[in-house]
Amino acid sequence: MEFHSINPYNGEQVGQYTALTSIELENILDKSAEVFKTWSREPLSVRTGLIKKAAEVLRENVEDYAQMITSEMGKPISESRAEVNKCAWVCDYYAENAETFLAPEVIETDAEQSFVRHDPIGTVFAVMPWNFPFWQVFRFAAPTLTAGNTGLLKHAPNVFGCAEMIEDVFTKAGYPEGVFQNLIVHHDQTEKIIAHDAVKAVTLTGSEMAGSAVAQIAGKYIKKSLLELGGNNSFIVLEDADIDKAVKTAVSARMLNCGQSCIAAKRFILLESVYDEFVEKFTKAVREIKKGDTTDDATQVGPLARKDLADQLNRQVKESISQGATLLAGGKQDNCFHEPTILGNIKPGMAAFDEETFGPLAAIIKAKNIEEAFSLSEQSKYGLGVSVFTRDTSKAVEFASRVTDGAFFVNELVKSDPRLPFGGNKRSGYGRELAKDGMMEFINKKVVYVK
Ligand code: NAP
Repeated sequence: MEFHSINPYNGEQVGQYTALTSIELENILDKSAEVFKTWSREPLSVRTGLIKKAAEVLRENVEDYAQMITSEMGKPISESRAEVNKCAWVCDYYAENAETFLAPEVIETDAEQSFVRHDPIGTVFAVMPWNFPFWQVFRFAAPTLTAGNTGLLKHAPNVFGCAEMIEDVFTKAGYPEGVFQNLIVHHDQTEKIIAHDAVKAVTLTGSEMAGSAVAQIAGKYIKKSLLELGGNNSFIVLEDADIDKAVKTAVSARMLNCGQSCIAAKRFILLESVYDEFVEKFTKAVREIKKGDTTDDATQVGPLARKDLADQLNRQVKESISQGATLLAGGKQDNCFHEPTILGNIKPGMAAFDEETFGPLAAIIKAKNIEEAFSLSEQSKYGLGVSVFTRDTSKAVEFASRVTDGAFFVNELVKSDPRLPFGGNKRSGYGRELAKDGMMEFINKKVVYVK
């Protein structure tokens, strides 16, 4: 079986990849289990030294990696560079903090000594999406490998070139062969991989459908799963907000990565008193976005990663308009390209409110008061994050208890940061990545009791 990655900007083929045979896959899985025996017993300083080296490799080769990201999934080159540098940051972060996170936790009991060790569990299998093809992998791999686990990656087929480069980062950094292995396989191999004795857990970043399918298999084999799924984040603008700041942040929150981000703001919930000013300034700013050549440093929005994604977004635009939404900007699709689009008069029940929109489409919703704004925000099957704009930050912090999402950001877009735990609730998944929590997900918390 062959896979092809295609540049969505110009339709040219970037790479061609041949699927592993059954025997090759079996050998990789066996190797992962074998290498775990020695890797897990390396002194932590060896593993932190290597992840530090991986950060250096990323920084030294930022241009090559950024070009591959841009070619395969169409992200503007400046964003691709930023993504690679963020991967280096997460590697540095765990190099610096792993010793503290993994230190034994002493608990006083009637024993002479009792404490909890933080031991690795074995091989962790990662199923990853194309939208941040480096970042999603590194935010799993940096803590997981540094904790002493081995890793296997099944990437999305349209970014298999990125997947090969990521494996190469670890090779160049000097990791023992087999600690991190890339699998060129179709997703129909998932059950075989999860069922293998070497694999102790699976982490998936992707759609609800994929998450549900993989978690069912993990459940069948009694293996732990972590799911980072879709989102339909709200961006609430209150009466006392700094509108210029809110508008500037809103453009980034929705349009970064051509809108293809789980944590992008998708539903803009505006209080009546700020509605007109926000919409006027936001529409102007969205119309001024620089679109086009993904290799140009100035480009802000390129194509979507595949034509079917642009088709899906345009279907959501048209369906919402037929349901009563007003087109305020954009709206047109051309092959993989979709204009940055704003729809006004959005209400629950419309596609742009109910569904995750994975592209440059902002849904504008009017709320009578704060109560209604938070109630609208909660009307989603997803629960990844909420942004609130207001000058009254102490009151805003109190609002945090009203949302069921995994993150609540005041006067800022929802973003991931190696120092903060990241993850969702409801249909956005379960478990946390990044920070100490991310490192603790694939750990055997082993009690040692000495009498
Ligand atoms: P996707 O179609 O679910 O693909 C994600 C990964 O899952 C790919 O490697 C895909 O491989 C695999 N996959 C799909 N169906 C599968 C199945 N039945 N069994 C096993 N593996 C399967 O998602 P996407 O369209 O690439 O990415 C967009 C989605 O990811 C959005 O919903 C977005 O919100 C979400 N996302 C969430 C986060 C987060 O942190 N919460 C971050 C980024 C993206 P194949 O392509 O080979 O099927």
